[in-house]
Amino acid sequence: MPAQLTARPSDIPLQNLYNLLEPITVPKKKARFRNWGRSFICTPSAIFEPENEFQCELVLELARREGKKLRVSAVGHSPSDLAMTNEYMLRTTKLNRILEINTEKRYVVAQGGITLNDLNAQLAKNNLAMINLGSISEQSLAGVVATATHGSGISYGAISTNVIALSLLLADGSRVTCSRSEHSDLFMASLCGLGATGIILSVQLLLEPAFRLKEVQESRPFEDVVRDMDKLVHSAEHVRFWWFPTKDTIRCSYSNRTSEPNNPAGSWFWGTFFGYHVVQFLLFVGRYFSTVNVWTANLACWLLGGRTEGVDDSYNIFNVDCRYPQHTTEWAIPYENTQACLRDFRDYLSKELQNPQGLRPHFPVEIRFSAADDIWLSPGYGQATTWIGIVQYKPYGFNVPYRRLFQAFEEIVIRHQGRPHWAKAHPLGIEGLRKLYPHFDDFRRVLDKVDPDAIFRNEYVERHIMGKQIDPRLFRAFKKGS
Ligand SMILES: Cc1cc2nc3c(=O)[nH]c(=O)nc-3n(C[C@H](O)[C@H](O)[C@H](O)COP(=O)(O)OP(=O)(O)OC[C@H]3O[C@@H](n4cnc5c(N)ncnc54)[C@H](O)[C@@H]3O)c2cc1C
Repeated sequence: MPAQLTARPSDIPLQNLYNLLEPITVPKKKARFRNWGRSFICTPSAIFEPENEFQCELVLELARREGKKLRVSAVGHSPSDLAMTNEYMLRTTKLNRILEINTEKRYVVAQGGITLNDLNAQLAKNNLAMINLGSISEQSLAGVVATATHGSGISYGAISTNVIALSLLLADGSRVTCSRSEHSDLFMASLCGLGATGIILSVQLLLEPAFRLKEVQESRPFEDVVRDMDKLVHSAEHVRFWWFPTKDTIRCSYSNRTSEPNNPAGSWFWGTFFGYHVVQFLLFVGRYFSTVNVWTANLACWLLGGRTEGVDDSYNIFNVDCRYPQHTTEWAIPYENTQACLRDFRDYLSKELQNPQGLRPHFPVEIRFSAADDIWLSPGYGQATTWIGIVQYKPYGFNVPYRRLFQAFEEIVIRHQGRPHWAKAHPLGIEGLRKLYPHFDDFRRVLDKVDPDAIFRNEYVERHIMGKQIDPRLFRAFKKGS
């Protein structure tokens, strides 16, 4: 083996470091990074795509020597500037191997860059599955951990609650394994660490035996669902709601583990042709004639139909079609504030719909639930949680207005003690966040300890965690017209 591959990164001469990094450096012309929602974009001074842990160390060493920030990013599904930087970016997409599967103890150890889609497939071959999932499985494992990504189920915490241990590369170049019993402060900070505590090299994740879910869906009037909320939320293992304000209707989904055979619901014609393509075209027309948005929402609500039942592998039921690029925001409110918060938002939307010049928002409002946890920056910290999310789609990638709607929504959820989803853009500064998170300053203390030179802190982290005045629109894809 060449001497430079056995040397410590700090001993490698700078020119040799450049040579070693050249094969994993994205060509300058392609060194751009845009999030999935096409709402944020950046041009890092270099993007590196390491294929092993040693190469991660080399990238970190270069950043340290050149005094550059280093942002770890994965598949860019965060709908904010959380993963953005204009300095160095380390993309984890090639760090995607499974390192160990233990079927007896039901855990997997996988590199941070593996996507949940790949993980689901590998686990299924071993008759195992993730305990809960969010709406999609395109994200990386470390990405969902770093943002406390959640699914739905009042007895199920965020995905980070199933993490047993993390292996991290810290800013000083050392590697550390942390868990609830080992370096526990670093662990509790990194389970929703926003990429700021270090590079997550691998994740040890608790699983359960592969399972199928039986999902029942039905549409009910808004007032019935809100009145019976507590009963409905506890009526199945995984309950979620999609609210169509223009029809005053909520599509309810209840899923339970089942031994029944696979029997998926839905048809291509209604789901894909009408539900995707026709709806996208109508949303495009709605950019010019906003009344069309009401018809489109009503059509989408109607397409969902009456009561349906389906049985499928867990991940096929957990995951849904999130449609098109979009602006989105989602907030976690204490579960007991759910009814009051939804009614306030409904009052606001009704006034807008009655006003000929009022907003005609897109659909649906997504409502989900999760159990309390003890992760320092998790929006579910210390409280059963209701997640309320809204979207404004960008049909064919074209921009649409969203700011007035999002500001009104944010005012309402903030009144109900809302905590923002960290991966989604939000206006809260450190004073507001400190009041919401009892461990906010513990988190900052860990960052100061493990990364005193702030190598892993990008603009998002500096703005929301360190309180620096940084323009939230710095990386916005569309700076005008929204
Ligand atoms: C269509 C869609 C559906 C979604 N559904 C849900 C949902 O149901 N529930 C929910 O809670 N969220 C949901 N999200 C949000 C999504 O889960 C998070 O934004 C997640 O972080 C995206 O993962 P990613 O791999 O794309 O990470 P990126 O967006 O690339 O990065 C996210 C964060 O993770 C950090 N990070 C990534 N890899 C590492 C690493 N190896 N080490 C350290 N830090 C790292 C980055 O620094 C950054 O801070 C959804 C997003 C989209 C676009």
